[in-house]
Amino acid sequence: VIRATGLVKRFKGHTALDGVDLEVGRGQVLVVIGPSGSGKSTLIRCLNGLEEADGGEIEIEGTPVHRASQADWRTVRQRIGMVFQDYSLFPHMTVMDNLCLAPVRAGHHDRDRARAASAGLLDRVGLRHKADSYPGELSGGQQQRVAIVRALAMKPRAILFDEPTSALDPEMIGEVLNVMRELAREGMTMVVVTHEMGFAREVADAVIFMDQGRVVETAAPADLFETPRHDRTQAFLSMIL
Ligand code: ATP
Ligand code: MG
Repeated sequence: VIRATGLVKRFKGHTALDGVDLEVGRGQVLVVIGPSGSGKSTLIRCLNGLEEADGGEIEIEGTPVHRASQADWRTVRQRIGMVFQDYSLFPHMTVMDNLCLAPVRAGHHDRDRARAASAGLLDRVGLRHKADSYPGELSGGQQQRVAIVRALAMKPRAILFDEPTSALDPEMIGEVLNVMRELAREGMTMVVVTHEMGFAREVADAVIFMDQGRVVETAAPADLFETPRHDRTQAFLSMIL
């Protein structure tokens, strides 16, 4: 579904991505780990055009997009969902309006159909009763579950997650990971930056370890966690596990 080859991104002389390759097949879950500043967010942002890569190639469902216009990137972003650490819901809109905005604007649904579809999605994450609440009236875990179903409302071909649970209190992390686990089980294609190694171990098809803008190691989770091949991977894992 998503393939990146030799991705390079520089910020004023600092190289944030230094030739990153990755591939996510249909229904696969790719987890990205690595120290702060290693380029994980930059990678995710390049994959859906929030940052423009300075070099390399990106294919989304077989179509090269690295030289796509802003208009084409908008189309890509309608097919590739994104969930951020800080939920980024629109604070002045109800949960229901947050969910309906993009599908209506993109012409997928008229308002009534969008509301019906959104109500169904809210049911799935146990938040139907919050449809008319504002984001500020929800817990962090609830807001993040709304952010996930907001991505789902566009019927995306894949969803990119950037540390979706790191702003949450421990008791709310589980409820968000459960929704993500469920999505994986249903065959959603996902790229997930996370420090939740239990989730990675259980759900990921492959784990990428990044350091200083490079992919140091890619492996099945069991292999990467039990028998990391690189010293840097080992050092990182011993710090966080
Ligand atoms: P964290 O785990 O802290 O979220 P990360 O792996 O997501 O880190 P990035 O946010 O991708 O790291 O940043 C990679 C590097 O690029 C860092 O050195 C960062 O300072 C730099 N960087 C990222 N965004 C910008 C920007 N908009 N302008 C300048 N430098 C940036
Ligand atoms: Mg980051």
